Amino acid sequence: MSTMNESFAALFGHAPDGCFAAPGRVNLIGEHTDYNDGYVLPFAIDRVARIAVKIRHSAEPRTLRVASTMGGDVIEVDLGTLVAEDVTPWARYIAGVFWAFEQKGFTLPGADILLDSTVPIGAGLSSSAAIECSVALALNEMLHLGLGREELVLLCQNAENNFVGAPTGTLDQSASLLSTADHALFLDCRTRESRQVNLPLEAEGLQILVIDTRVSHAHDSGGYKELVEACTRGARELGVPALRDVGPERLPEAKQRLHPDIYRRVRHIVTENQRVLDTIEQLDASGPAAIGDLLLASHASMRDDFGISCEELDLAVDAAMAAGALGARMTGGGFGGSAIALVESSQAQAVSERVLKDFAEAGYTTPEIFAVVPGPGAQKL
Ligand code: ADP
Ligand code: MG
Repeated sequence: MSTMNESFAALFGHAPDGCFAAPGRVNLIGEHTDYNDGYVLPFAIDRVARIAVKIRHSAEPRTLRVASTMGGDVIEVDLGTLVAEDVTPWARYIAGVFWAFEQKGFTLPGADILLDSTVPIGAGLSSSAAIECSVALALNEMLHLGLGREELVLLCQNAENNFVGAPTGTLDQSASLLSTADHALFLDCRTRESRQVNLPLEAEGLQILVIDTRVSHAHDSGGYKELVEACTRGARELGVPALRDVGPERLPEAKQRLHPDIYRRVRHIVTENQRVLDTIEQLDASGPAAIGDLLLASHASMRDDFGISCEELDLAVDAAMAAGALGARMTGGGFGGSAIALVESSQAQAVSERVLKDFAEAGYTTPEIFAVVPGPGAQKL
């Protein structure tokens, strides 16, 4: 922390008032179900966005100054005339949270914020939500704004949807703000009810490896919006508010009624929701070693029905399985990013080596492979 305080002082000329951290997340299972009012099962990871903050209680103009330890200049934003297009893209994840508080009727003072994140960017681990959630928690606590964590989830989603311009659900922000260590978070995205589900990896001699393919994805462009639209159309044509309302028993009927491309998307959402419920049942009854097949089935569904995998993700899954993983799947929005592999700790090395070898043989960029631990949600440091 002290180096962060020093960097902060060097940049802004004074010490910060407070430091906060919010984690990235791995989605264990339940992909693209969130914006279909469905079920997700993420867990917070031990990779976090940390921010140091000083509130600037000066009169107008209310200036927000932000910097990242990743580099680049200090960016200044006038909170009185906050428009996304005027803000440097990466700083929108911070400015957007100020904007979202203002949308709720708060008038915020200016602030100086230094960001230091260990969540890899674009790996499907939600480095963006980690930033938003750290800022939302910091402002809520430092300015005594009195919002609950569930409200902060929606506020951060508003920032990402309507300021940054990425049409995402609440999975990432919920995981970052509501998780507890050694648990996954079962979230019903319709009712927003959540429940902590035991995920005792270490105690069971297991690890979850993240295999970051380093193939970049882009949430705020093309593919993601099309998928959201396909799901919306599927629900409309089946006469339900959201695909959450379609049980597996209605799939034969859906096949009759829907265009084949829409049907495949619908089938992924419907079966994936069921897999989330089955995963929780397995975790509660038999522990994490029992969920491997469900992870693998989820990957097949995203690859074959939802069409969001890519060659590198498929290879990561296949290589991990060939080296003895209990299960593996791509995680996150798709089109690149990361796969996860559930492995016995004694197999972790062999699985990593096999993935690296197969990627090298295929001529792909060397992936980053690291274990993640189910960690706590956003907190004051
Ligand atoms: P992810 O899946 O990691 O959330 P996104 O595209 O949603 O991918 O968000 C990544 C963006 O977040 C980056 O392009 C950048 O604008 C911003 N970002 C993440 N981490 C940092 C950081 N440490 N410093 C500056 N910007 C960051
Ligand atoms: Mg993101």
